[in-house]
Amino acid sequence: MSRTVIRASHVIAYQDGGHRHLKDGVVVYEGDTIVHVGQTYDGPADQVIDAKDKVVTPGFINTHAHLSESPLDKSFVEDRGPRQFYLSGLFEFLSARDGAITEAARRASIAYSIPELLRTGTTTIMEIGWHGDVVAEHAARSGLRAYIGQGYRSGRWYTANGRTVDYEWSEDDGDAAFKEAIRFIERVDGKENGRIRGFLTPMQIDTCSEALLRRSADAAREMKVPLALHVSQSVPEFHEMTRRNGCTPIEWLQKIGFLSERCILGHCIIPGESSWANYQADDIGILADTGANVAHAVWVFARRGIAMESFARYQKRGVNMTIATDTCPQSMIEAMRWTSVVSKIVDRQTQVATAADVFNAATLNGAKALGREDLGRIAPEAKADLLIWQSDSLFMTPLRDPIRNLVFSATAEDLQTSIIDGRVVMENRVVPGYDPVELGRAVQAGAQAMWDGMQQRDWAGRDIEQLSPSSFPAYRG
Ligand SMILES: [Zn+2]
Repeated sequence: MSRTVIRASHVIAYQDGGHRHLKDGVVVYEGDTIVHVGQTYDGPADQVIDAKDKVVTPGFINTHAHLSESPLDKSFVEDRGPRQFYLSGLFEFLSARDGAITEAARRASIAYSIPELLRTGTTTIMEIGWHGDVVAEHAARSGLRAYIGQGYRSGRWYTANGRTVDYEWSEDDGDAAFKEAIRFIERVDGKENGRIRGFLTPMQIDTCSEALLRRSADAAREMKVPLALHVSQSVPEFHEMTRRNGCTPIEWLQKIGFLSERCILGHCIIPGESSWANYQADDIGILADTGANVAHAVWVFARRGIAMESFARYQKRGVNMTIATDTCPQSMIEAMRWTSVVSKIVDRQTQVATAADVFNAATLNGAKALGREDLGRIAPEAKADLLIWQSDSLFMTPLRDPIRNLVFSATAEDLQTSIIDGRVVMENRVVPGYDPVELGRAVQAGAQAMWDGMQQRDWAGRDIEQLSPSSFPAYRG
């Protein structure tokens, strides 16, 4: 097996249970595994990577993404959030959009997502969607480490009037899709040297029956796979669940035995005790007590004016907080930055949700959520999932504390090399086999078809300009 030695000015190395700043350090990996970290190394080397004036960090674990649609949020969902649905875009915007996304657009979005993720620090992705085989194919090809879940549910939401959210239930209660999701895991789990893994993901708490959620929790336990679910993601969903069950969504999940350390819940942003719900509860305490993990995707909410109350508070209560991109941009750099800043604003405190906190969330906490002690850290026996950043670029200088610079100042330009499973998957911003110009063209065509198709799917028959007026009116010629 080939042995690679990285000599770097800065290494974020793991020691005594946490990240440490190792100056002038060496990281050695053999095959897919790190074998040595330290100040010196005199052993053999098949390959040496000179990372002078560079920062080597562990790769980021992005715990909630939808590769087949997130790129298509751009130029559409921003600046729009209906007050009737408490600013959530789920019921009008995503409903009009989803049916209008063609198969070609979904495939284009998945391909486009690969370089977007690899150029912004994601080395492990948790993908939730309906195109698991396509994602697995791209993960195999590109080298991305991917946990893939095939979504299923008992019904769907819709609005027929822009005032209420209604539900349409399917006859088989999502059972067929649940079984297909299990077969998918059996088919892909462990492929590509274990880089591709499966997990179960009933889609949303309000679209899944109690029976389906119970079956999911049982199956996840038996199969020893992660279990994801969208929960407490909007005020209408919160109200719907309290109306159905007389308790909060998170209380209900606890009651039906769904919550465990296996759960990775997106987004838990509207717990009972939040000012958004104003419903007497201790949902954050339940999350902490049950060990359920939160996939926090700050941006999809913050850009609409909705903030978690707060990242720092959840963390202080003992909830394992992980970080995710969910929407576009699919950048973990941005996700860490906004997580920190929004929590500081909500808490009106500077010294909370620090660079260290969000960096931990994007690495060690993500690994904990997946039950992986070999991810999210630079230590012997961990997987060689590494990022090499410039330390002397326009954006990264001056540098004393690499983590603060990464969280508050870095751009995708500063990420020079991504290594996953010991394989260089991105170098000098190039992901082999993924031409950004060609991918951009395909996504543009897919988005255009989607924009054109929305009018016939919107409940009020609005076209794209009525649903989401352009920032400035067209220039009159
Ligand atoms: Zn989601």
